[in-house]
Amino acid sequence: MNDLEQQIDFLLFCQKQDWKLARENYASLANVQTRYFQEDYRTTVLQFNPERIRSSAAKIDKASLQARPCFFCHRPEEQKGVTYNDAFEILVNPYPIFKDHLTVPLRWHERQQIKPYYGDLLDIVSDLSGYVLFYNGPKCGASAPDHMHFQAGRKEEFPVVRNWLNFRKRAVWERGRTSLYASVGLLPVCFILVSGDRSEAVAAFGLLYDRMPMGPEDYEPMMNVAVWKEEEVWITCIFPRRELRSSCYYAEGDANILISPATVEMAGLFVVPLEKDFKKVTFADLEKVWEEVSITEDEKNELIRKIREEA
Ligand SMILES: [Zn+2]
Repeated sequence: MNDLEQQIDFLLFCQKQDWKLARENYASLANVQTRYFQEDYRTTVLQFNPERIRSSAAKIDKASLQARPCFFCHRPEEQKGVTYNDAFEILVNPYPIFKDHLTVPLRWHERQQIKPYYGDLLDIVSDLSGYVLFYNGPKCGASAPDHMHFQAGRKEEFPVVRNWLNFRKRAVWERGRTSLYASVGLLPVCFILVSGDRSEAVAAFGLLYDRMPMGPEDYEPMMNVAVWKEEEVWITCIFPRRELRSSCYYAEGDANILISPATVEMAGLFVVPLEKDFKKVTFADLEKVWEEVSITEDEKNELIRKIREEA
């Protein structure tokens, strides 16, 4: 265990003990219930977590955001952190999905955007090798789209870490110690960047990012990203998105399922805050959510074509 991992373990230990909000919310994680789906050569997990009602139904429109103080800039006195580098610090998330749930905000107030900080993301995950670091785009599940941040949880919490080797995929681009793959006939649509070289990984990420489809109102292509390290290799899963939420979120009556997909859902862990949803949801429902929020097969093929043509 390196110095940073020790500091983070100690931070988690102290915050779960000394900070009432964190203590209560981590304690209530013990009441979380879980269902498992074994389909498609992989495991998908459904978690019933009533505490997450706050973020599943979070308002992130401009007026709502302006009406509340930024929770990274205006922190409770009890919240402590560990400084990582000139740009980032590491905090304990007081509204956890997992037993060790971190947030990694930028040290100044700036809107959510990954591209300038993808290199930092690789560095952080190198120093926290037991964790998956992840990024929710401003319209893809981020509850603070106005303040750049990553989140992190232990690797074992993310089904994709075990599942990705079984994914049907094809190579899109290769250079040196870096390969970019695209999922084939699989939901959610996923690009997987495997690299043993930091600067090659940054270049390959930019290659994909710059060619992803983007809405006229947006400043960044919609996406979720999860990164972790295996031995000396970084694995980055990029999930290109076209919708914030799927139709079941807005449906009336029985068809309604309160799921607001972010990186953890794209990575195979669905969190539902309502018991009725936990009981009734099928794997087909989850696949439908993935399908509706992912880019289409046509968009994926167009993206692959552009990367191959322009690279
Ligand atoms: Zn802020």
